[in-house]
Amino acid sequence: MSFRSLVGVSSGRYLLLGNEAIARGALEGGLGFAAAYPGTPSSEILESLISVKDAVGIYAEWSVNEKVAFEAAYGASLAGVNALTAMKHVGMNVAADPLMSSAYTGVEGALVIVTADDPSMHSSQNEQDNRWYGVHAYIPVFEPFDADEAKKMTKYVFEFSRRFKHPVILRTTTRVSHSRGVVELGPIPEVRIKGKFNKEDRYVVIPANARKNKIKLLEKWDAISEVVNELPFNKVEGDGKKLIIASGSAYGYVIEALDYFKIRDKVRVLKIGTPVPLPKKILIEAAEEVDKILVVEELDSLVETNVKSVLHDSRIEAEVRGKDLVGYEFELNHSRVRKAIAKFLDLDYSVPQTPNQPVVSVPTRIPTLCPGCPYRPLFFELRRLVNQEKIPYIASGDIGCYSLGYNPPYRMQDIIIEMGSSIGVGYGLSITTDDNVIAIIGDSTFYHAGLPPLVNAVWHKKPLIVIVLDNEVIAMTGHQPAPSSKDGKETRYIPIENVVTGFGVRFVEVIDPYDIKTVREVVKKALSYVREVKEPAVIIARRKCALEVVRDLRRAGVEIVPYVVLEDKCIGCGICYDWFVCPAIIPGSNKKAWIDPELCIGCSACAQVCPTKAIVPQKEYNKEEVEKFWR
Ligand code: SF4
Ligand code: SF4
Repeated sequence: MSFRSLVGVSSGRYLLLGNEAIARGALEGGLGFAAAYPGTPSSEILESLISVKDAVGIYAEWSVNEKVAFEAAYGASLAGVNALTAMKHVGMNVAADPLMSSAYTGVEGALVIVTADDPSMHSSQNEQDNRWYGVHAYIPVFEPFDADEAKKMTKYVFEFSRRFKHPVILRTTTRVSHSRGVVELGPIPEVRIKGKFNKEDRYVVIPANARKNKIKLLEKWDAISEVVNELPFNKVEGDGKKLIIASGSAYGYVIEALDYFKIRDKVRVLKIGTPVPLPKKILIEAAEEVDKILVVEELDSLVETNVKSVLHDSRIEAEVRGKDLVGYEFELNHSRVRKAIAKFLDLDYSVPQTPNQPVVSVPTRIPTLCPGCPYRPLFFELRRLVNQEKIPYIASGDIGCYSLGYNPPYRMQDIIIEMGSSIGVGYGLSITTDDNVIAIIGDSTFYHAGLPPLVNAVWHKKPLIVIVLDNEVIAMTGHQPAPSSKDGKETRYIPIENVVTGFGVRFVEVIDPYDIKTVREVVKKALSYVREVKEPAVIIARRKCALEVVRDLRRAGVEIVPYVVLEDKCIGCGICYDWFVCPAIIPGSNKKAWIDPELCIGCSACAQVCPTKAIVPQKEYNKEEVEKFWR
């Protein structure tokens, strides 16, 4: 059953994705307002809420970035409305400024901040452990171990946040967010989306008020630190002289491992659902009379360090093991946890081998842009231009589908560090090197974090080319809308050229990235401009994401005509499959190209790069009719 179809269901057990369980828990907890910026593995939380917003009557939106989403949710909570914001772990860095002060002011309605961390960096630039934000900001961190607990915990943290008038962090990881589990549903209460803002000094964090806020924050923190000892999410199971402490998702691995070794009732287990603050009383009780403790947690040694500190202060002399057996990096898995427990308890264990496992040789596949992706002709032509004219350049890259431009053969992303950094880092390089700096950024990323560095570059008049790859959607995370999206019903389209012109950029060109000749001409013009005028130049390469176009064509019943290679004309030069590299184009044993009709979406871009005009449509079709869907 879909998430949406469960809106009217108020009891029973259903299979939900972890992120859907969080969304459901929020609805059952009395959510009225939700705002987020998409990022894997968090995106399905707001996707789910948006899918039911009209049916339930809540307000839900994709915001322009995580800071704005956080501030919007914080503002709603100050009016007494229960609010949620969700983001991937690195998004929390963007929202960190208001996050830190929100603990000082406190809130009125609930404010729940979901951070979905990504151990092993399946789709992220780092694997920072966001539990530290709770320590840093004095905000309690709740951490579920599976989908059912994610729902229960989310529902509960709304009540908790309201009770203490304090923000709460709900931290998940990829395995919890993206695993399905059976979830017990409850009723969704009546929604409240309007409230009243009561003017109080605590909300104005001038130093005199902020000092008072800090004293109150510490008092509140003491109360919260007591209450976490009473929560059902922190509990002791089993008995024995050995204690295993497991936080968040680690609990599931530990239970499975104890069952595997058939020693579930012989070992004491302390399940931690609130790593920040740690339930000290429960910990001390659990640690009494044990001689050895193993702490199992994903990523950093946050719980382990605190356990050692609490035991030291309480003069409990048990030996504490943890990261020395479990390791700091990457996701936990069953064999890793079993191995650590086996060492800790002196058990025999070796990773089981699957008998007679067939050896399968899988060809290496570099992640690549989709067939018909409008970024491909642009990367192709940029690479060809700098190679042919020996132009010294630095391609300052960014986060998005176009990060794939780092891969060969394009190699047009020399630095990628975080959202919006292409312009900021490129700006620094434009001052300190003699190379031509080309910052390459997507439309959504531009609105997310590209505006301030571009203002800075215009203000300081520095020679920098900015290419905005405008496919009119947040493609990488699942096609969420951005200010550059044209078909919003409740939102307004903001053309990027209007914004950059308003910023004072004097070289602004909007081009079609499929028009390879124009790409070359305009980039060359921009290179001359920045060299001579010493100011930023902005090129907006606009064409819709190919996946959106294919979906729209299919919905409209318009036939997609694939392209084919005329064998007698093909000379096997390899330009289309070695340099242009559409995944639909495959070299034959005679080096001649062949186009897979199942993959080709008939975008026509490759026809421009073939020197012998060997690539043609399979049959005549109405180009104008199809072209309308691309714009
Ligand atoms: S027309 Fe060419 S570039 Fe476009 S999808 Fe087909 S093979 Fe790829
Ligand atoms: S670019 Fe043209 S000639 Fe060269 S391999 Fe491809 S189809 Fe053949």
